[in-house]
Amino acid sequence: MAYVYDTQNIFAKILRGEIPNTTVMETDHTLAFNDITPQAPTHVLVVPKGPYVCYDHFALEASDAEIVDFNRVIGQICVELGIQPGEGGNGYRLISNAGSDGVQDVPHLHVHILSGRPLGRMLSRP
Ligand code: AMP
Repeated sequence: MAYVYDTQNIFAKILRGEIPNTTVMETDHTLAFNDITPQAPTHVLVVPKGPYVCYDHFALEASDAEIVDFNRVIGQICVELGIQPGEGGNGYRLISNAGSDGVQDVPHLHVHILSGRPLGRMLSRP
């Protein structure tokens, strides 16, 4: 079944400039902004500007230019924030929730960059 993109989701509204955001980085294909409810001292959301619902949708249907740009932005933010573990930072975690089991609240692909405190084990059992 093909993905159906909801043009009224909150990140679509941010991308159209209808609601504000705290931009961390912007390129032709990608926008990164601070999460409104941070779960760590650093909590940045990275979104493609194109209408992709979740990671597999993007990975399979986006152009090479969009995919490269998205990933480069994540890398550049890690540099700017000084969180690269190999470069003196203390590291970070990337999360991209998808669908109901992934507990995705906003149906526009986003990668969470979390950093600034020990983040615990990857998953806790319910
Ligand atoms: P997810 O559960 O992976 O879909 O995460 C959605 C994230 O979007 C949550 O961490 C929210 O805090 C965040 N969020 C929702 N609305 C906004 C907004 N207007 N600006 C920034 N972050 C938002």
